[in-house]
Amino acid sequence: MALVSSTPLLRKARAEGYCVGAFNVHTLEMLQAVVEAAEETKSPLIIQSTVGTVKHLGADYIAAAATVASNRSSVPIALHLDHCSDFGIIMQCIRAGYTSVMIDASHDPFDKNVAATRKVVEAAAAVGVNVEAELGRVGGVEDDIVVDERDALLADPDECAKFVELTGVHTLAPAIGTAHGIYKGDPNIDFDRIGRIASKVSIPLVLHGGSGIPENQVRKAVSLGMSKMNVATELRIVFSDAIKEVFAANPEENDPRKYMVPAKLALKAAAIEKMRLCGSIGKA
Ligand SMILES: [Zn+2]
Repeated sequence: MALVSSTPLLRKARAEGYCVGAFNVHTLEMLQAVVEAAEETKSPLIIQSTVGTVKHLGADYIAAAATVASNRSSVPIALHLDHCSDFGIIMQCIRAGYTSVMIDASHDPFDKNVAATRKVVEAAAAVGVNVEAELGRVGGVEDDIVVDERDALLADPDECAKFVELTGVHTLAPAIGTAHGIYKGDPNIDFDRIGRIASKVSIPLVLHGGSGIPENQVRKAVSLGMSKMNVATELRIVFSDAIKEVFAANPEENDPRKYMVPAKLALKAAAIEKMRLCGSIGKA
């Protein structure tokens, strides 16, 4: 089926109490791997690319590949642009065929974040594209966005409600203590805060920094109202480690298919595991 907006996928997830995995991909094989995982487990899927990957591959290449994958698939798939603070790149992605975008103006003061988000919501409304925004700061590193973990501010539940009302945004990523990258210790998730935000905000909530969160903590976050979980770093590591293993065993290998196929299979297995944690298996 054709690519769909992530809005209906995530509304259904919020209503039924599960979460949709949103996986960052950087190559064609990574994209195919997460789609095969979704297909095999009858799970809804959000394919994501960062701004860095859009610059690396081109929004048109990514959208074309995701469109082919979706057309060949029987499960609902959305294509999402992760963390973007550039209105021009957001428009470029929508024009290329993305069905979901994130405007990240969380580094700006509240009023400026509202204004920037509203502008994208209005532009995306005409073409039925989902818009995600962030409130507070998620810690860690993602592409060139660096936030000092100590200074990462958590989202205020009342501000979240006000933000959603003022912007009309479709999905919200409130900072609740997760961080991008791989956790050095256990993540310090403010579950009480998730519950308070979910009680004031009816739109689907997004959990950023999904790499390496223990199973019980993912399940708790989902039960409290998280409907989308972003996973990037962990999948990159799984994919790259599988390639490293091939070269460790056979340094002379020079057929890309010989090292990409094991990487693809490893990534597919990791994506299926995340879908199981999210509770999205069989929900397509
Ligand atoms: Zn993020």
